[in-house]
Amino acid sequence: IVIVIIAVVLGLTLRQNKSEFKSTFLSRCEKFNQTDCQKVWDAFEQAYVNKDPCKVAVEAYDPLIVAAPFKPQCNRMMFWSKTKDVVHGFTEKRDCFVTLEDTLLGSVLDGLTWCGKEGSKGTFTTGCPGWSECENNPVRSFWRRISAAFADVACGDVTAMLSGSIDTPFNPTRKKAPAESGSGRGICCNRLEDSTKDMLWKTARDNNIFASIEVVRFQASRIKSLNVVMVLQQNAKSNCTDPSLKNLRQTLDTGITYSCKDVPESRIQECGAKPEIACGACW
Ligand code: NAD
Repeated sequence: IVIVIIAVVLGLTLRQNKSEFKSTFLSRCEKFNQTDCQKVWDAFEQAYVNKDPCKVAVEAYDPLIVAAPFKPQCNRMMFWSKTKDVVHGFTEKRDCFVTLEDTLLGSVLDGLTWCGKEGSKGTFTTGCPGWSECENNPVRSFWRRISAAFADVACGDVTAMLSGSIDTPFNPTRKKAPAESGSGRGICCNRLEDSTKDMLWKTARDNNIFASIEVVRFQASRIKSLNVVMVLQQNAKSNCTDPSLKNLRQTLDTGITYSCKDVPESRIQECGAKPEIACGACW
């Protein structure tokens, strides 16, 4: 009897987990008009359901990108690294920029955890591997895949908010892909074949998605400029003169203009709070 009760309780908890997660997914999704959210859910779920949660490759989300493609929003696209709160504090109040978290897939999954299990049709929200616990976990592979898709459509003047509160604001620190060894450049891949780009997934082992996944996908044929905003808090550790930003310039596809501006965090907050300040005059 005890075993039956445990099994029933466990079954109900797991089902509840699934339905709660799915209803959050669908209710967030339905804010985007003209979207078949059930179709997006199906494409999402197939990536990780019935799989070992440490064996979900980045490519598993390819059908999801096909089901919910990213639209280019030229001159408004905002990338970030280590500045999540300040960026979103600003973009929530002002309409100047679009971050990945403002897009359908980014907003639906932001802040959520999920995974599947071998031999189960369920979606679980507890007992899932942590971000760094294993390389190919469902959450990390998802963010890597959709960050790449967002960067692939970036166009016009692109902005990136980086942090002056860390020693190395641009930090790819990953092993070189075989195709790059001897190239003399730290990272580059805009001119690589697609098959080689696929291989880069397997070697981009660090946490820094901006440096290792987004910047390397910026294409000069689509992007005019990359404008870095260095967010400076009190006692900042780095600014636009930081040597790591030289690596960023060298990594950029030839033809993309680079600029960098040191901006106090307080100015970004002020601009968020004052709609009378034009977007272009914020920094
Ligand atoms: P970052 O190092 O600030 O990491 C971005 C986010 O990834 C963090 O806010 C966190 O949610 C998650 N993350 C990273 N390392 C983690 C860890 N060790 N444990 C738990 N969570 C961890 O910046 P980044 O790696 O350069 O990525 C930022 C860029 O990639 C942005 O342009 C953004 O569009 C995209 N991105 C967004 C998210 C998100 O959660 N919304 C996650 C990853 C990447």
